[in-house]
Amino acid sequence: MANDLSDHPLVQHYLTILRDVATEAPAFRRACSGITQVLATEAAKFLAVDTFTVETPLEETNGSRIAGPVVFVPIIRAGLGMLEDAMATIPNASVGYIGLERDEATAEARCYYSKMPELSPCSHVFVLDPMLATGGSAVQCIDQLIEIGAKRITMVCIIAAPEGIECLRAAHPDVEIIVGKIDRQLNEQKYILPGLGDFGDRLYHT
Ligand code: URA
Repeated sequence: MANDLSDHPLVQHYLTILRDVATEAPAFRRACSGITQVLATEAAKFLAVDTFTVETPLEETNGSRIAGPVVFVPIIRAGLGMLEDAMATIPNASVGYIGLERDEATAEARCYYSKMPELSPCSHVFVLDPMLATGGSAVQCIDQLIEIGAKRITMVCIIAAPEGIECLRAAHPDVEIIVGKIDRQLNEQKYILPGLGDFGDRLYHT
């Protein structure tokens, strides 16, 4: 099952701002930032840690550190809106970029750009895409990540359609999903209902 954070007061607060048709780009960006901080912090619970001994000024005690390299992969364009706040949670993470474009006629994703860092089997990759609609882009991105060696992958999104969760689950059952809210359904144009419209357009004021 997806990890649905819709009970979280901060998620409810920021999501309402994002949904509101009257919210303009600056406030939309601030709400995107606020909700991403919550989602990224929650997603970090899947990271493996190594334990070691640390010395405080008074005595030795048990310490932990994140075990493997962390990689954030925003799906361009909307995923870029989540990158900075995700990076703030784990500043030494690497970043890979993937550009997937939705064909408006078929609603299918087409990859037009990909630049990934080298992955090791212990890398943990977090895919950032605010809107998990059909799941086609997420599946295509994760297919590519697995091809280049990713073993631990978490999908982080703000709103998902049940259809997108289902599609991702069917293709990649081992991928954890962190989501702010699972909405009702997709419409005929594959937009999420009630949703918030086109995330990229609202974020970048296009
Ligand atoms: N992408 C968006 O930006 N919005 C949707 O509702 C679905 C996909």
